[in-house]
Amino acid sequence: MGIYACNIFYVIHRDNIYVNVLIETRSLNLSREEIEDFRRKIIYWYRVHGDRDLPWRKRRGEWEVFVAVALLRSTRRELVARVYGEFLENYSDPRRLASSKLEDVRKLIKPLGLYNERSRELIDAARIIVSVYNGRIPCDREKLLELPGVGDYAASVILLRACGKPEPLLDRNTVKVYGRVFGVKPIKFNPYRDPVIRDLAVKLVPMDPEEAYEFNLGIMDLASKVCVDIPRCNICPIKEHCKWFKRKPPETLF
Ligand code: SF4
Repeated sequence: MGIYACNIFYVIHRDNIYVNVLIETRSLNLSREEIEDFRRKIIYWYRVHGDRDLPWRKRRGEWEVFVAVALLRSTRRELVARVYGEFLENYSDPRRLASSKLEDVRKLIKPLGLYNERSRELIDAARIIVSVYNGRIPCDREKLLELPGVGDYAASVILLRACGKPEPLLDRNTVKVYGRVFGVKPIKFNPYRDPVIRDLAVKLVPMDPEEAYEFNLGIMDLASKVCVDIPRCNICPIKEHCKWFKRKPPETLF
């Protein structure tokens, strides 16, 4: 399987800009065996070393996933762990949240910070889910992105976990792992939108929904426990696949 990192040349013609020529600079060839070995190692590592006990990771109901994503946004997970269960007890489905009082929701999620904005967004999203989608979370990226508080990453988590789609979860941390392993320097601005890394990640995520979920969480946990700023390559399960490890590059980390 070939994936190419390219430079794009722009040709200016009168007032228009056309993407004209693609020049291959790096070829990233991954065989089926490599992909399967990589997946297997990440999933196995996650089952042994991952943070599988986080309360939202054990849940797969669409509303449970939606709430977890909303509460985890820009928030430390220890804080979310304190209110997640209580939130779901009080607002066990979007209808209950849609008819709740803003003040009650604010009070409950106050320890998380951003509680004014987040409470309003949660209630507004619940109202849309009830009125437009009959209480079901839509399994469609465009529709998810129209819900208040749902961005690209949140939509991917919902599609992955609640809808069973093989979505890659790309944030700064997971992009760092993919970039190091495959020797791709992610674009600086919005690195999680890097097209080469996205292509790679899409091809690496297993098709089976449960494995896809474990694989993504494995990459995420590896990024926070092993592939840290000064990577702990000696204990890394995928070092045999890793260009960073094989090249043993100098100090410059990305
Ligand atoms: S071998 Fe090192 S650089 Fe490569 S993914 Fe593992 S920890 Fe990160």
